[in-house]
Amino acid sequence: MQIREGVPLAPLTTLGLGGPARWLAEVGEEAELREAVVWAASRRVALRLLGGGSNLVIADGGVDGLVLQVGLSGVRAERRGDEVLVTAAAGEPWDGFVARCVGERWQGIECLSGIPGTVGGTPIQNVGAYGQEVAETIRSVRVLDLAEGSTRQLLPDDCGFSYRSSVFRASPGRFAVLAVTFALRTGGTPTPRYAELAGALASRGTSPSLADVREAVLELRRGKSMVVSPDDPASHSAGSFFVNPVVEPDESERLVTAAVAAGLAAGPGEVPAYPAPGDRVKLSAAWLIEKAGFPRGTRRGWVGVSPQHALALVHHGGGTTSELVTLARDIRTAVRDRFGVDLRPEPIFWGFPTADPTA
Ligand SMILES: Cc1cc2nc3c(=O)[nH]c(=O)nc-3n(C[C@H](O)[C@H](O)[C@H](O)COP(=O)(O)OP(=O)(O)OC[C@H]3O[C@@H](n4cnc5c(N)ncnc54)[C@H](O)[C@@H]3O)c2cc1C
Repeated sequence: MQIREGVPLAPLTTLGLGGPARWLAEVGEEAELREAVVWAASRRVALRLLGGGSNLVIADGGVDGLVLQVGLSGVRAERRGDEVLVTAAAGEPWDGFVARCVGERWQGIECLSGIPGTVGGTPIQNVGAYGQEVAETIRSVRVLDLAEGSTRQLLPDDCGFSYRSSVFRASPGRFAVLAVTFALRTGGTPTPRYAELAGALASRGTSPSLADVREAVLELRRGKSMVVSPDDPASHSAGSFFVNPVVEPDESERLVTAAVAAGLAAGPGEVPAYPAPGDRVKLSAAWLIEKAGFPRGTRRGWVGVSPQHALALVHHGGGTTSELVTLARDIRTAVRDRFGVDLRPEPIFWGFPTADPTA
């Protein structure tokens, strides 16, 4: 294991922003990861795990401590009746893994096609899209418990999965994810639950295959610049910058009434609101952002709101993290002032004095 000093982190993130890591090491084997943990502990240096850098906002001043770029690789599958337990090492690229499972006709993660990052990054915020989330198929997560120094197999109940959150997100720095085991259905047929996806699949015949689902999802995502590509400048983002707020029904009703009264919607049906677990209501952060005065394509210097999707903040090149965070803070303030709803950022912030510099 080679530990390098002063390594720029911006090229290792999808936003392409932020300063260097004080130290950085690429770990391709679990033994190297353990070695790095000992190295950091003996110097009382903070440790951070880096996957594909697709959910990270790194401060312009960079991060103190040791960043471990997780390159653990390997996938193995074990058939059990009509399901298959597929274990992928944390450093495997997520979309390559999805493509492989779809190719094998293993059902359960096809709607999560096109999400950037690594397999190890997916349990952190219980990655989800188009009606699926990884919590539905994760059977176990193998971790190195950094507090105890032991390897553990966490079951779904231990992972505390919820909407865009988990125990990993709630206790940053506690666990290094080594591998994730998914229980997928063999020969499974797609059951698209998301209306937009079902609509896109309708044109592909009456019984779409898993490959059709993957293609349809990729097409939808490309239309929103949600597939990272050097050819699409609007894909230089951290994906959705804010989580869709989940509120009590009375709060949703209050917001809808206020929006209609302010002329922001012609009627209650025009304010997007969806049923959420626990009889709550999920609002559309993108709608709130646009109606608060930040429409798609808003640009401030070298950063802005994606022209394709109001939820994504984009770095157009040559900008700074400070500009991006200021924009995010202004959006958050505008939504709070107009609707009384506090947006929670989705990405994770490194190198800032507080966990959430947009607050
Ligand atoms: C264009 C675009 C579209 C996106 N679309 C979606 C979407 O549809 N749905 C969705 O949920 N997300 C989406 N995202 C966000 C992001 O891709 C996911 O959250 C992804 O799973 C992050 O994985 P990563 O490997 O890039 O993690 P990183 O960004 O490298 O890290 C994110 C966090 O996970 C931690 N982490 C990473 N690997 C490990 C590990 N092995 N062990 C412990 N901690 C680890 C890091 O320490 C950090 O706290 C999108 C992002 C982009 C840029």
